[in-house]
Amino acid sequence: MNLTNKVLFGMALGIAVGLFFNLSGLNAAGSFINEYIVNGLFHTIGKLFVNALKMLVVPLVFFSLICGVCGIGNIKTLGRVGSKSFVLYMLTTAVAIAVAITVAALSGIGKGMNQVTDATFTGKDAPPLTDVLINIVPTNPINAMASGDMLPLIFFSIILGISILMVGEKAKKVIDSAEVANEIMMKMVGIIMAVAPYAVFALIAKSMADLGLDLLAQLAGYVLVLVGVLMLHLFITLMFVLKVFSGLSPMIFLKKIRGAQIFAFSTASSNATIPVTLRTVTKRMGVNNSVGSFTVPFGATINMDGTAIMQGVATVFIANVYNVDLGIVGYLTVILMSVLASIGTAGVPGVGLIMLSMVFYQVGLPIEGIGLILGVDRLMDMIRTAVNVSGDAVVSSIVAKSEGKMDINVFNDPDAGVIDTSEFMHIDTTTRK
Ligand code: ASP
Repeated sequence: MNLTNKVLFGMALGIAVGLFFNLSGLNAAGSFINEYIVNGLFHTIGKLFVNALKMLVVPLVFFSLICGVCGIGNIKTLGRVGSKSFVLYMLTTAVAIAVAITVAALSGIGKGMNQVTDATFTGKDAPPLTDVLINIVPTNPINAMASGDMLPLIFFSIILGISILMVGEKAKKVIDSAEVANEIMMKMVGIIMAVAPYAVFALIAKSMADLGLDLLAQLAGYVLVLVGVLMLHLFITLMFVLKVFSGLSPMIFLKKIRGAQIFAFSTASSNATIPVTLRTVTKRMGVNNSVGSFTVPFGATINMDGTAIMQGVATVFIANVYNVDLGIVGYLTVILMSVLASIGTAGVPGVGLIMLSMVFYQVGLPIEGIGLILGVDRLMDMIRTAVNVSGDAVVSSIVAKSEGKMDINVFNDPDAGVIDTSEFMHIDTTTRK
């Protein structure tokens, strides 16, 4: 079995075991299974794996961006790649939420529900746009790295790359070293991915065991519409955009993105998935590192189609529950706010709810209404994160293709970039001598 199939198997087994614990009542609070297996073993294995992925994000983005900028070698091209990806990211997000609002409004979810919730939710403020812009330039790059802030890290790495290019011949050794460092980081991604089948099993089994199934049934309308629009966006809108703008085959794309989607689904974090997304687009799809090293971390931070869809559906749902008529202006505000909020918030678990509270505040919906959907949000977060990273990969492919920075043979080769786990068993030590 190859690694992707093993991961898929781990995921299926995780769903089965988790649901079994859940439905059989074995996971009741205080039980042996709950304390030692779900919150002990599964939790620890899952967390270790997510930590390992996060550990790679900063050095990987740093080195691959330096190589990327030096690879592009031209500031004009760099600007073009930046603006193209920005526009595409914003456009796809805006389309996503507009479709979400339309479908949710047509379906009438939440009408007549009039349910009072005892779960309370107090919204946190998303950072104001001015702060987001100001913070793009770090006062201290080490600080930005230490706290894993993507936009300032991207900014610093790009300026560094440009300066290396400007120094020219004398800096050749630095470029070579960055390339070696980048290759080493990619190997680390490979090593960590080799244990993914077990980790994905643990992460998913825990999520499923903890799932509030009765809540899921209560909120069936919301969940069905939300998942429906997420699938519509992934399989129809994004694939249409990919085909029209790049001519690439959606079938091949969907096959190759599956691995990254599973990681996103298991971790519920686009940021933690960056190493896998970057590896997928560069090694499996043939996107040149000069484009992917920028578009992937950039997208993980500013592009959240799935999250925007959740916000659209949740807004309509809660407006209906509370009998509030937002009107066309209200909904346009929702679209604008969601797109803007996605720029300033990082792709980490649960951040969508913070963005939602910002949107609600703007249009005057009761923030505590978010409490209604809180119980099912983890599962929804997992699904929407898979859509978020798919959007990042679509835009990366389109931009790379339009810049002539895509190796079409790699894209079409089904085996390109597949991880060979046996490689780790035979490490060549001859170079040490
Ligand atoms: N977890 C999502 C992501 O990382 C963001 C969210 O919707 O909460 O992309």
